[in-house]
Amino acid sequence: MRFAVDLDVCQNIGQCSFTAPDIFELDDDGKLAFRRQAAGVYDSPELSADDEELAEAAASLCPMQAIRMAG
Ligand code: SF4
Repeated sequence: MRFAVDLDVCQNIGQCSFTAPDIFELDDDGKLAFRRQAAGVYDSPELSADDEELAEAAASLCPMQAIRMAG
């Protein structure tokens, strides 16, 4: 399982980083560190079982529904 973040929809609210700080790391500007690597959509690498649970929790809590799980 992987996840994808639509960076055009994400409003940098940071809820995901409270839920899963090791997966949704914020940079010094308080924005998702993925923004340095990706424009538009960030696609994650394959997740471990533990990280999958955390990413699913973050996806369900994202106020913008910007995180999508993908098999
Ligand atoms: S919780 Fe959603 S809107 Fe907030 S930073 Fe994470 S992906 Fe972006």
